[in-house]
Amino acid sequence: MTVRIDEDRVFDIIETKRPSTVVVNAPGGLLRQTKDLMARVKEKYGVNCILAGDSCFGICDTVDDEVEKLNADLALHIGHNAAVEFVGDNTYLVDAVDDADFGDVVESAVPMLAGFKRIGVATFSQHLHELPNVKEALEKRGFEVIVGKRNNLMLEGQIFGCDFSTSQPLQGEVDAFAFLGQSEFHAVGLALATGKPTFMLDPHMNEVTDMRQAAEERRKRAILAVYRALDARIFGVITGLKEGQKMLGRSRWISKRLEMHGRKVVQIALREITPERLAPHREIEAFVQTACPRISMDGFNFDRPVLSIPQADALVALLEGRSFGEFLQRPKWIELTVGLVPK
Ligand code: SF4
Repeated sequence: MTVRIDEDRVFDIIETKRPSTVVVNAPGGLLRQTKDLMARVKEKYGVNCILAGDSCFGICDTVDDEVEKLNADLALHIGHNAAVEFVGDNTYLVDAVDDADFGDVVESAVPMLAGFKRIGVATFSQHLHELPNVKEALEKRGFEVIVGKRNNLMLEGQIFGCDFSTSQPLQGEVDAFAFLGQSEFHAVGLALATGKPTFMLDPHMNEVTDMRQAAEERRKRAILAVYRALDARIFGVITGLKEGQKMLGRSRWISKRLEMHGRKVVQIALREITPERLAPHREIEAFVQTACPRISMDGFNFDRPVLSIPQADALVALLEGRSFGEFLQRPKWIELTVGLVPK
């Protein structure tokens, strides 16, 4: 597998903006290539490059604030491209592309998809360029293939782990989804948000995985956490401090609803929401966190319920005597707060 960072775009930005210091951040899987790129930028242009070394999981993990803190001129956020090329005041998005070919895994998928006629296809940033090829290959095998339309943040067929707004509206038009890439995280999210059978096509292992069981387990765990939180009298409502996940308004809204129903609320702000960070708050019986929803959905080691925004909405529904329905089947689990400038 080779993942290639769009170095030409980086050089263009450097030549146009002529910065003296640049902040760079990238997901863990791209750190080696990113550090190589930083060395080349320094060598070619004499630009001082600083790696922002905190965790970087998504497009929400931009480092606009670090530009000011580190007296830099701009930031480069590597590996999470979108329908925008610049976010916030200082940050340029730089694509990274995986060169994996999907030809073989599409052939492997055909027997598993055989019971379905209309297939939605979706993927994450690094495989977007493969969508037309996969669409054509599946159509040749007799499937009707639909790719979700781009919007103000996402490119055609693109999903994030919390934003399925290109694909979720296809819920009534497709029988199943094919997710392209080696990411159970994204594939499970797609299955939960659409309620459709979802198959993960992994081009590196040439494996096709039916995600239905994994998605159903996550759904049940999410519901169980809501019912466990219903009994809690003291809540911690956590606002995330990462740039693209800061949902202060939502935290206030949820806090107010909980208080209206007799719960005591302690508002907390955190950059990293981990069992270790929550451990000292012993008196709190349940948490709601309005940052990355996957902290709640995929967090297997919290000792108390830690609800995401969709789960908190379900909890509020129960408190108000309503049923919560399929609360995960929505286009977005969080409204990302990255500042957007269209391409
Ligand atoms: S908030 Fe969304 S984009 Fe950010 S890490 Fe979580 S799932 Fe990914």
